[in-house]
Amino acid sequence: MVIVMNQNATGEQIKRIIGRVHQAGLRTHVVEGEFRTIIGIIGDKKTIMALAVEALEGVEKAVPISSSYKLVSRDFHPQSSIVDVSGVKIGGGSLVVMGGPCAVESREQLMEAAHIVKEGGAQFLRGGAYKPRTSPYAFQGLEEEGLIYLAEAREATGLKIVTEVTDVTAVDLVASYADMLQIGARNMQNFHLLKAVGRSGKPVLLKRGLSATIEEWLHAAEYIVNEGNYDVVLCERGIRTYEEYTRNTLDLSAVGALKHLSHLPVIVDPSHGTGKWHLVRSMSMAAVAAGADGLMIEVHPNPAEALSDGPQSLNPGNYMALMKDIIKLADFLNNEVR
Ligand code: PEP
Ligand code: MN
Repeated sequence: MVIVMNQNATGEQIKRIIGRVHQAGLRTHVVEGEFRTIIGIIGDKKTIMALAVEALEGVEKAVPISSSYKLVSRDFHPQSSIVDVSGVKIGGGSLVVMGGPCAVESREQLMEAAHIVKEGGAQFLRGGAYKPRTSPYAFQGLEEEGLIYLAEAREATGLKIVTEVTDVTAVDLVASYADMLQIGARNMQNFHLLKAVGRSGKPVLLKRGLSATIEEWLHAAEYIVNEGNYDVVLCERGIRTYEEYTRNTLDLSAVGALKHLSHLPVIVDPSHGTGKWHLVRSMSMAAVAAGADGLMIEVHPNPAEALSDGPQSLNPGNYMALMKDIIKLADFLNNEVR
């Protein structure tokens, strides 16, 4: 249930309602808008109905929320959220780019990638230190050594670091190095992990599950926000369909759907979304045109030598060319690339 206060409701009236809701054993989530305050109520439906809040002073209307995700829904929080990651804002009309290799392979590889990514104009360096590989025989990542290189690359370039955490036991360690924690597609419904990053105090990039519906994805985000962490950004990275030419089917309609259903910022990963480097440019442009708040792009100094995802990684030349096009398009759309 959402209580919409009328425009001239007093602070006293708002306080009284919040007190009453808490007294009934329910939780509140208050959004102070430019013109009016909205109070979200979370808890048992019958108890909420018994409050008869519509009769209380200062209330304009009470709107039931039909979806079972609440905190992430736009009904609950009509304004689009802006997530601040160590000073870089995601959402709210700017466009962020997260570039870098699939995996941190060595100090040299990561530093080279970081300088290229920075030169192109991106704000974030991506790179996995813990790799959730489909095969146990594939490169699994450098783990803490990789995190140390990421922190060194941040020091050298000023780029913010986004990197994946795959296990509850590693959350504190990864959080001590990263600016933003990534939950990968394979862990989108790892509910213990979602709760742990919800308590980590770090912004979270939540990728869409391999076969997840938009509703399942929003429920996953709700797990994180329900722990008190509102700094969640969603990342469309393609879903499994019958099509085999592309690695996944990039669902760009998800951008509009999520913007309609939720207030959370949305970015798009056309690298995992297509699996082919030559499709990354067109899908990046389409994602920005569709209203995405940012892009995650795999960039490798030498894709032919990459230990993972070489076929979908851009080489330095193609990355630079893409960034020029993206900046032009963002400019045309009045999106600021900061
Ligand atoms: C990644 O971004 O490194 C990754 C493994 O992607 P996904 O979880 O989307 O497969
Ligand atoms: Mn990858």
